[in-house]
Amino acid sequence: MPSTSPYCGRFAPTPSGPLHFGSLIAALASYLDARSHQGRWLVRIEDIDTPRAVAGADFIILEQLKHHELHWDGDIIYQSQRLERYQQVLQQLESQQLTYRCACTRKQIKSLGPYYTGVCRNKSVTTEPAAIRFRNDDPILQFIDGWQGTVTLEPAFAAEDFVLFRRDGLFTYQLTVVIDDIDQGITHIVRGEDLLTATSWQLNLWRCLAQQTPQFIHVPLVRDTHGRKLSKQNHAPALTVTDAKDQLLAALRFLGLTPTTKLSLTQLIEEAVQQWQAKYFHATNPQDTI
Ligand SMILES: [Zn+2]
Repeated sequence: MPSTSPYCGRFAPTPSGPLHFGSLIAALASYLDARSHQGRWLVRIEDIDTPRAVAGADFIILEQLKHHELHWDGDIIYQSQRLERYQQVLQQLESQQLTYRCACTRKQIKSLGPYYTGVCRNKSVTTEPAAIRFRNDDPILQFIDGWQGTVTLEPAFAAEDFVLFRRDGLFTYQLTVVIDDIDQGITHIVRGEDLLTATSWQLNLWRCLAQQTPQFIHVPLVRDTHGRKLSKQNHAPALTVTDAKDQLLAALRFLGLTPTTKLSLTQLIEEAVQQWQAKYFHATNPQDTI
């Protein structure tokens, strides 16, 4: 039966390698939240950062999701096929005077402090190459997160004129993720807490480009013994097909659930949806809007 719930969630991996335990947590949390709301769950491949994209990694990631019984709805969207759309939105923001050009190098910016101070705001930079920055006149200093509660940002960070288009010719994550989430009708963004602070910038773009803002839910990160986020850069081992059940059990426990070990993979997911609903539904109620 087609879902009538307005809920739409997503998992949006970067195809820089296979999924590891940390990315399984993000996939699983977003899946469980969507299914416990009878919502849709989409998968989007964030291959915009082309130097990091690895050929074939998208296929491996999709296979890994299937092996963990995480089945998505609809078609897979690839960011690399949406460049025209990103350009169109960037031009829209430019025509609303919400952007400006900046040719500062990383070194120049760093010499002035931890955050970009807006030195190019009132210049008409014609130098090439130049970045395009967002004119952040109305920064978001606080928002409500479904897991973390009230999040308060450092004002200097929140107010930074963040980059929409990079000097090296790439659209930024901040711009593309917001356009994709809006275009796909995403209502709930469940992801790792490493993206918590950037949410204030993204919310700012949402306000400029959409009628409504989504609910954000940032789940805890898996860390290695040195306290670092598990990541491909830190050589986190890839999920394996043969250990799918053990990996799923470990991921469910990490998210605070109490899986029944003897169940099959399909049953484990069904049980987890029920447990997620009982344990977290209050925290992710769509009425807790920003
Ligand atoms: Zn500049």
